[in-house]
Amino acid sequence: MYKVGITGGIGSGKTTVCKVFEVLGIPVFYADTAAKEIMCKDALLVEGIKSAFGNESYFEDGKLNNKHIAGIVFNNEDALAKLNALVHPAVFRAFDTWEAVIPPSTPYTLKEAALLFESGSYKMCDTTILVTAPYEIKMKRVMLRDGVTAAQVKARMDKQLSDEEKSKMANHFIINDEQESIIEQVLALHQEFLKAAEEYKS
Ligand code: ATP
Repeated sequence: MYKVGITGGIGSGKTTVCKVFEVLGIPVFYADTAAKEIMCKDALLVEGIKSAFGNESYFEDGKLNNKHIAGIVFNNEDALAKLNALVHPAVFRAFDTWEAVIPPSTPYTLKEAALLFESGSYKMCDTTILVTAPYEIKMKRVMLRDGVTAAQVKARMDKQLSDEEKSKMANHFIINDEQESIIEQVLALHQEFLKAAEEYKS
């Protein structure tokens, strides 16, 4: 099936944009939500995390010990790379499982991932969208949504590739600056993807 990857910096509004595609009947795989789920459910991944970061990575009830993991990977690039090398392939497997039960009449699917480019996940997509918004707007949105400080948002932003870097790799763009209508932009892209998906099938 034709696959569209969608990403954007923290607070850019990629989830909001995905909701519009969902209204159009396009199924969306939320990679970040899936990653959180499979960290407790995917046996191979759980074993990998335990052997890399210790049995204390999980509580007795099987829940992830976020504090333990965060304590190890925070400001430790090697440990973070090790965690990502375990989690990303597991998310790819979860996507394949999810896609296998999508009705064949579905024209295309959307894969939303904050680290679409950083994880290499974009290579498995037929095309990609980058959602962008001005820095100040992204900052304001995340502070409001998560009740965090500007410094905390900045620390999270600094861990992601810049929009400039991502835009070199993206095929399509949605500007979510609260001036331009995201609905109109989604509708235009939807038409494009319907055509591309038709060509892909034939
Ligand atoms: P994250 O990477 O942190 O998950 P995101 O890119 O998925 O963020 P959203 O969660 O979609 O971003 O949006 C962040 C916040 O901004 C949400 O509270 C959302 O309701 C709000 N928001 C997004 N787009 C708009 C918009 N066009 N107008 C008003 N509010 C918006």
